[in-house]
Amino acid sequence: MAKYDVIVVGGGAMGLSVAYNLLRKGKKVHVLEGDYLNAGSTGRNLGVLKARNPYAIGNGNKDLVKLAKMGLKLNAGLSSETGINTFHKTSGCLILAKDEADLKQLKEYHAHFKSMGLDERELSPAEIHRKWNYIDPDSIISGFYSPSEANAHPFGVVWAYVEAIRKRKAQVEKQNRVSKIEKTSDGYKVTAEKGEYDATEVVVACAERSSELTEQLGHKVPLKPMRKEVLISEPIRPFLGPSLERLSTHFQATQTMRGEIMGTIDWMDPGYDLGESSSEFLEHFADEMVPVIPVLSNLNIIRQWTGICDQTPDDKPAVGKLDEGLYVTCGYNDYGITMAPAVGRLLAKTIINDETDPMLKPFDPLRFK
Ligand SMILES: Cc1cc2nc3c(=O)[nH]c(=O)nc-3n(C[C@H](O)[C@H](O)[C@H](O)COP(=O)(O)OP(=O)(O)OC[C@H]3O[C@@H](n4cnc5c(N)ncnc54)[C@H](O)[C@@H]3O)c2cc1C
Repeated sequence: MAKYDVIVVGGGAMGLSVAYNLLRKGKKVHVLEGDYLNAGSTGRNLGVLKARNPYAIGNGNKDLVKLAKMGLKLNAGLSSETGINTFHKTSGCLILAKDEADLKQLKEYHAHFKSMGLDERELSPAEIHRKWNYIDPDSIISGFYSPSEANAHPFGVVWAYVEAIRKRKAQVEKQNRVSKIEKTSDGYKVTAEKGEYDATEVVVACAERSSELTEQLGHKVPLKPMRKEVLISEPIRPFLGPSLERLSTHFQATQTMRGEIMGTIDWMDPGYDLGESSSEFLEHFADEMVPVIPVLSNLNIIRQWTGICDQTPDDKPAVGKLDEGLYVTCGYNDYGITMAPAVGRLLAKTIINDETDPMLKPFDPLRFK
């Protein structure tokens, strides 16, 4: 049985980023992915990269924003760092206010984000229309714009990490689901579909499934699997400047490098079923989007799918040490692509130094005990 320094369980953006950063520091690492690459949320998300994280306001949001800022910066350098195009583009992001309740909330957030030095400016409907004349100024009452936020193609992020891992002579084993992790005298034995593996240290990066493995070792991480639908259109001429959002309806829309409009709205019931897609979602998305950009009224939608956002009770991730040699990174809700390059770097440092990096301290996975 080959012995590794670290086995990473889960080959989504998080697991791959941790593995890549450990390899950069000379560790012998192996990744076990239970499914195909991009099977999890990483292959199902929108790839909007935002520093203005709206979660846990008043309760640790500053820590989230610091991590997101670092993630935004590292995402921008990922293509040149790995030699693989992640289709990163600093497109900016415009958060829309359609009614007074939206505006009140966004003004409060604006004060908070400005106090943290984030680059956010309030624009009137007329200013928005002058900048992006496809937006109907009568459909909104205000907008909060950050030019430094960005997009990346999540598949590109995965390819970048997988290639960088391969270049360092390590492997991402697909279709090899881990069923058991046991403590041994000098580390851990990991049992997967295709065999058993020995490692000094283990990182569990299985998103909403993480607790199924950590609980075997006595560490429950409370995670709610919140499902979210996504749609994508036929490709059209690239015209959309910033990604668009409305926080109160969980609406997001962006345009891919191929020209498709990709978007989401609302939450589904919690659960693990990825086979469900609803016409209500399609209608609600159109009702939100078309008044803002009327030119999209005849757009053909070609596909819908569902993804899972792993939410913790306090909306912050669970990342760090659970026990000697046992680490977890999960609970990134709908903002994990932004965070992945930062978390990978900080968690690798934490593992190597056996000391939690200060930026990860607020996200201690043992805080739920
Ligand atoms: C609809 C939607 C939209 C989103 N939009 C954005 C966005 O615009 N911007 C953003 O930053 N984030 C967004 N997110 C969030 C982002 O997708 C996630 O936070 C991120 O992908 C989480 O990465 P991960 O590696 O933790 O999880 P995953 O990508 O889910 O990876 C976990 C992996 O673990 C594997 N696994 C599970 N159990 C086992 C096991 N027992 N053995 C081996 N492998 C196992 C799974 O197969 C999976 O591949 C969105 C999420 C959704 C669902």
